[in-house]
Amino acid sequence: MEVHNVELQISAVRPDQYPEQGYPEIALVGRSNVGKSSLTNTLINRKSYARTSSQPGKTQTLNFYRVEDQLFFVDVPGYGYAKVSQKEREKWGKMIEKYITSRKELKGVISLVDARHEPTDDDITMYQYLRYYDIPVLVVATKSDKIARGKWNQHESKIKKALDFDGSSAFQMFSAQTKMGKEEVWKWIEDRMGE
Ligand code: GDP
Repeated sequence: MEVHNVELQISAVRPDQYPEQGYPEIALVGRSNVGKSSLTNTLINRKSYARTSSQPGKTQTLNFYRVEDQLFFVDVPGYGYAKVSQKEREKWGKMIEKYITSRKELKGVISLVDARHEPTDDDITMYQYLRYYDIPVLVVATKSDKIARGKWNQHESKIKKALDFDGSSAFQMFSAQTKMGKEEVWKWIEDRMGE
């Protein structure tokens, strides 16, 4: 999709604040610092648009970015903050659960992991959770420019094994630096939009 127009429509904390246009929604999840803002900015051809999730406690909202009056990117706050209290974690969990299990506009979730490392326990839990609810998932392995191309297959296999990757999910190596994988991610999104 050729993107010219993107706007943060709303940072929602409750379902009654979710957008009412009925456009398809693609959610993006991942631990903080995995490269979620960078992926979003690459997809919409901006240098800095999606706000960074580097402020623990200040991003406990679902951010709905309206793209071309056709779809929403839903930025889900990063998980895995060591500093966040148990209470905050529970609040976060409930908000995500409500959104993921009941939002009919949700057409798929992009789950980000770091291409260099084994998925974290949180990464695995999130992936299995999405599978359990039968949500179409694209696992995007970020920062692939930091590993040699000859090692990509090995890293992909390790990540898939750790996640107990299901054949109905999709996987894509990605780099915000080289924009490698951008077209493939868009293709997956566009396929989901039609469902
Ligand atoms: P977020 O917290 O998940 O939104 O992560 P950011 O997008 O803010 O990225 C976290 C850090 O990783 C920043 O310093 C980015 O520049 C860096 N980063 C993100 N994606 C890539 C990538 O594909 N390649 C490289 N080399 N660095 C990346």
